[in-house]
Amino acid sequence: MARIGFIGLGNMGGGMAANLAKKGHDVRAFDLSADALAKAEAAGCLRAADAATVARDVDAVVTMLPAGRHVAAVYDDAVLPNAAPGTLLIDCSTIDVVTARAVAERAAAKGLMVVDAPVSGGIAAADGGTLTFMVGGSGEAFAKAEPILACMGKAVIHAGASGTGQVAKLCNNNLLAATMVATCESFLLARRLGLDPQTFYDISSKATGQSWSMTSYCPLPGVGPDSPADRDYQGGFASALMLKDLKLALGAAGEANASIPMGAAAAALYQAFVNGGGERLDFSGIIRLLDGQTA
Ligand code: NAD
Repeated sequence: MARIGFIGLGNMGGGMAANLAKKGHDVRAFDLSADALAKAEAAGCLRAADAATVARDVDAVVTMLPAGRHVAAVYDDAVLPNAAPGTLLIDCSTIDVVTARAVAERAAAKGLMVVDAPVSGGIAAADGGTLTFMVGGSGEAFAKAEPILACMGKAVIHAGASGTGQVAKLCNNNLLAATMVATCESFLLARRLGLDPQTFYDISSKATGQSWSMTSYCPLPGVGPDSPADRDYQGGFASALMLKDLKLALGAAGEANASIPMGAAAAALYQAFVNGGGERLDFSGIIRLLDGQTA
């Protein structure tokens, strides 16, 4: 069993650290929040005094932090100066590609291996150990990270070199946002034109308009399988987080001189939904905005 440092015990990291401890790893955990630290301790982790302590004398350091600036600060101030050469660094946060590649370079210069390993799946998957990890880094770093990530997920996929895990995540969510918006507007249009939404589902779910947004996560209550729409859009994947990921996609597209008009349109709609109070609602709740309702 490995000694693993874990920094960032929030909605996602709390459950992930608990799963590592449950699988028998020696987990030394830190978060700025005393509440989060107490929960991690109750779940079998050892409470560390600070992020620098977490990085010392461990085989791997996992970070699960809000955004690129938090990851860069924690790496530069605590992890890189304190981790022994050979320590594996696993960043599971969703961050911008530029920062992911920059911290990997700074770590490599200190003899440290890094993978960017953002996740698909929300808080329930983090708690249940059923996340999907998309991993960027060398083959050697991936081979070391894979058994650790497997304790927290159902699938661990090597995307390629450093940063490609983040690329996979933001491209996936760019696609997901566009299919969700298109699914919402098509249901509303079908209804407006006199077609029963359930009948539209029965047809389109077996026709070429079918997508995960329709058949696994239908945005209309009472249609398709059980989904956040059936719980008033509570739980699920918060619209604020979808907006964050769309902004990352737009930023990366700008860096690469690529055009993503569908992503830009989806980002504008999610921005309006968030501004109107939909921030915490599941991202399928965007159907309310398209239907002219308040969040
Ligand atoms: P969160 O805000 O609940 O947790 C982040 C934690 O990091 C907080 O507990 C905070 O106190 C801690 N933190 C911040 N700065 C720190 C520092 N310097 N040192 C130590 N701890 C620090 O966020 P979350 O929902 O757990 O999301 C974490 C990451 O996972 C984000 O990048 C998010 O985009 C991504 N993600 C979230 C979900 C989701 O459904 N919540 C799904 C997929 C991916």
